[in-house]
Amino acid sequence: MKSVIVVGAGIWGSSLALRLAESGWQVTLVEQHKPGHVRQASAGETRLLRCAHGSDAWYAGLAWQARSGWRRLEERAGERLYHEAGMVWFARTPDGWERASARVLKELGIDCELLDPAEGSRFFPDFRGDDLSFLLWEPHAGVLRARRATQVTAGLAVEAGVRLVRGRAVPVAGDDAPYTNAVEVDGAPLRADRVVWACGAWLPGLFDEVPITVTKQDTVHFAVPSAWSVPETPAWVDYGASAYGHGDVDGVGMKATSDAEGPPYEPEHGPRAVDAGSVEQARSYLRRRFPTLADSPVLFSQVCQYPLTPDAEWVIAEISPGVWLLGGDSGHGFKHAPALAGYVAGVLDGDHEPEPRFGLHDRTPSRGLRTSGQVG
Ligand SMILES: Cc1cc2nc3c(=O)[nH]c(=O)nc-3n(C[C@H](O)[C@H](O)[C@H](O)COP(=O)(O)OP(=O)(O)OC[C@H]3O[C@@H](n4cnc5c(N)ncnc54)[C@H](O)[C@@H]3O)c2cc1C
Repeated sequence: MKSVIVVGAGIWGSSLALRLAESGWQVTLVEQHKPGHVRQASAGETRLLRCAHGSDAWYAGLAWQARSGWRRLEERAGERLYHEAGMVWFARTPDGWERASARVLKELGIDCELLDPAEGSRFFPDFRGDDLSFLLWEPHAGVLRARRATQVTAGLAVEAGVRLVRGRAVPVAGDDAPYTNAVEVDGAPLRADRVVWACGAWLPGLFDEVPITVTKQDTVHFAVPSAWSVPETPAWVDYGASAYGHGDVDGVGMKATSDAEGPPYEPEHGPRAVDAGSVEQARSYLRRRFPTLADSPVLFSQVCQYPLTPDAEWVIAEISPGVWLLGGDSGHGFKHAPALAGYVAGVLDGDHEPEPRFGLHDRTPSRGLRTSGQVG
C-alpha cells in the first residue's frame, strides 16, 4: 500500500488526506493545533465560491468542478456547507476584468448574465450603482461555511482511515539531500513514500525556497436587518475597489471587507485583533454602495493571513524526490479544495505532472486571479 504524510489540516491538507485515503493510500495527517483552529486560513467563518477569474479558464473550470465536490461533501455530512446565493460583480469599466470573466464563463458553459447597474435593486434591499458600467451576475456562485467545512472534511478523513497526529512537523534532511520523505513530529520520526507540506502561511518559515510572503488580512461583519441575509442577499465583489462581502450567514452579520494586501504578518504569534483602519475602510465602502448600512455596528471580526505568491498562482512543486510543497493559495484557494485534492492526488499517483505555472520559478507580479484589482 502506498503511504503519504500530509502536514497541515487546513482545507487543502484535509481534502487531500480524504481523497488519498479513499483512493487506497495509507495516510497520516499531521496538524500542530486542531483542524479548524482559528489561526488557520481555512477557519474563516465564510469563504466565497466564484467561477469568474478574469481571462483565466483553468481556475474557472476548477472552481466549477469544486462546486460539485462541495455538494457531495454536504450530502455525506448531512448538513448545509454551501449557500448558492449567487454573486454580483460590480464592473466599473465596460471592457475590463468582469467582461473577460464573462467571456470565459460562457466558453465553459457556466451560467452568467450581464445586467444594467439599475438592476442591483433586484438583489440588495438598498443599492447605489451610479459609478458602475454593468453588473455581472453569477447565479451558481455563493458562500461556503468555511470553518465548519474544514472540520467536516477532517472528520470524514479520519472516518476514511486517515491517522490524525497532533504535533509540529519539521523536515528531515538526508546525507546528500536537504529534504527526505521523512518528517519529525515533536522529535518523533515518521516516514512514508510521499510527504506533502500543506502548511498555508507557515510554509515559508519551513522552506526558504518558496516565493511566498505573508500578510495580515482583517475581516469585518456588520449587524444588519434580516433582509440582508444569505441566500436572499447574494455575495458581491467590487474588483476595481478590492472590496467584497456577502449577506448574513449563521448570524455573524454582513461581511464587508478588503482583498487588498495588509502588512507583513506572522501567523503563529501575530496579533489577532483587527485594525481600526480596516473597520473604517469597510464602513466607507458600505456608505458608498449600500448607504442605509453606513452606521451598522460591527458584530464580528476576524484576523486571517494570505500566503501570497507574486502572481497569485499556487505552488504545487516537488522539492526533492517524493517531497511536495502545496501552498501559496494567495487568498483564493478555499473554494477549490475538493477539486484541487483530486488534481494533486493525480499528481501523486503519477497520472499527470502539475502545470508549469505552479513551479518554484521566478514569478511576474500580477493580481488578476484575486478579487482585487487595486493595491492596498
Ligand atoms: C481573509 C481571507 C479571505 C479569504 N477569502 C476567500 C474566499 O472568499 N474564497 C476562497 O476560495 N478563498 C479565500 N481565502 C483563502 C482560503 O482561506 C485559503 O486558500 C485556504 O483556507 C488555504 O487552506 P490551507 O489548508 O492551504 O491553509 P490553512 O488553512 O492555513 O492550513 C494550514 C495548516 O497547516 C498547519 N501547519 C503549518 N505548519 C505546520 C507544521 N510544521 N506541523 C503541523 N501543522 C502545521 C497549520 O496549523 C494550519 O492548520 C481567504 C483567505 C483569507 C485570509
